[in-house]
Amino acid sequence: MTDPASILGLPKPAWAGEDVAMLYDMATRFLEAEIAPRYEAFEKAEIFDRESWLKAGQNGLLCASIPEEYGGSGGTFAHESAIIEAVSHVGVDGFGIALHNSIVAPYILHYGSEEQKKKWLPKMASGELIGAIAMTEPGAGSDLQGIKTRAEKDGNQYRINGSKTFIINGQLANLIIVVAKTDPEKGAKGTSLIVVETDEVDGFERGRNLDKIGLKSNDTSELFFNDMRVPTANLLGAEEGQGFVQLMQQLPQERLQIGTTAISMVERALALTIDYVKDRKAFGKAVIDFQNTQFKLAELKTEATIGRVFYNDCVARHIDGGLDPVTASMAKYWLSDLQGKIVDECLQLHGGYGYMNEYPIARMYRDARVQRIYGGTNEIMKLLIARSL
Ligand SMILES: Cc1cc2nc3c(=O)[nH]c(=O)nc-3n(C[C@H](O)[C@H](O)[C@H](O)COP(=O)(O)OP(=O)(O)OC[C@H]3O[C@@H](n4cnc5c(N)ncnc54)[C@H](O)[C@@H]3O)c2cc1C
Repeated sequence: MTDPASILGLPKPAWAGEDVAMLYDMATRFLEAEIAPRYEAFEKAEIFDRESWLKAGQNGLLCASIPEEYGGSGGTFAHESAIIEAVSHVGVDGFGIALHNSIVAPYILHYGSEEQKKKWLPKMASGELIGAIAMTEPGAGSDLQGIKTRAEKDGNQYRINGSKTFIINGQLANLIIVVAKTDPEKGAKGTSLIVVETDEVDGFERGRNLDKIGLKSNDTSELFFNDMRVPTANLLGAEEGQGFVQLMQQLPQERLQIGTTAISMVERALALTIDYVKDRKAFGKAVIDFQNTQFKLAELKTEATIGRVFYNDCVARHIDGGLDPVTASMAKYWLSDLQGKIVDECLQLHGGYGYMNEYPIARMYRDARVQRIYGGTNEIMKLLIARSL
């Protein structure tokens, strides 16, 4: 297959230096050798195995941006980007390491006490602990302030009651950041983040591994907390009530990371499609010889190039600490919309074969759809952008 990483022919941005390129190559080789051959089985089983996580840890794919003193590789978001790009370029998008690496681990790094960081981060880097973040509830998604999960202090423990849904890595995760109300009277200011080590608590129950239209191999699940007892020492932050501020501070990276997947999947879709239309014949010539195919792919390559330049600029700003929430929302909304459009057009150029699951573009079409929904829907992104007008 044509290399998705070079399909747009753009110069590498300054943040993608030699070590980032090496990590990308290493991650690609690992994913092609260890994950891709078993991916179909994971898709069928609707879950990965723990062994893949442990191997990913051994091969440096977990916690690349966590400092070495906590077991990570001491990199930046550029390194996280390289890993996410490799996942999408190889086409194993259900492997939930992006969320583990660039969403869950940073919460612990930024808000955890020294003790918490030393306890959890090295095990997240090795893959012994698999991370998840549980915000959404059956009755509250976009309107996160409406969550009902309650954490009541009882001595040196929290007693947590409630339920969550759509939680990525929900069956495998053994370290889950739960968003809960510690003081319902105070609204957003009464919300806290509490780390649940699932192997060590009573009252924790996993619900269904949900039947989704795409990302089948990811175990996205319901979770239930019935008088679940968690030590008060597992609160993230020095005091209760910081949850919303913490969530808001981490949102730019979470949204940018959805953009990483979007632009990388766009590159893979283009690479696959260009190969396909060069090979496929109709009316005595290759499909690429029709002017419609050429014009369509010319448009898609142009739009993908605009998307990649914007993405690269967002990463540069993020690494410098200057990616504002509005621009991050633009990246999440625009790049995931672009992904939906380009993957759809690429499927069309495959004709009937594009609708067959044995062709990767079919799976990409299903996998792409959720990108406009999770991480804050694209409507919510526009709301946030509009507030800056
Ligand atoms: C596969 C998958 C994985 C997920 N992973 C996680 C996870 O790991 N952890 C987690 O906590 N959550 C996760 N989510 C949840 C996800 O973030 C929510 O589904 C999303 O935020 C939308 O919430 P909702 O589903 O309740 O939709 P709703 O909030 O009910 O929205 C329904 C519709 O109304 C629109 N809408 C809502 N409010 C407004 C408004 N003010 N203005 C305009 N339109 C509006 C929405 O855009 C949407 O189109 C995941 C979801 C999916 C599908």
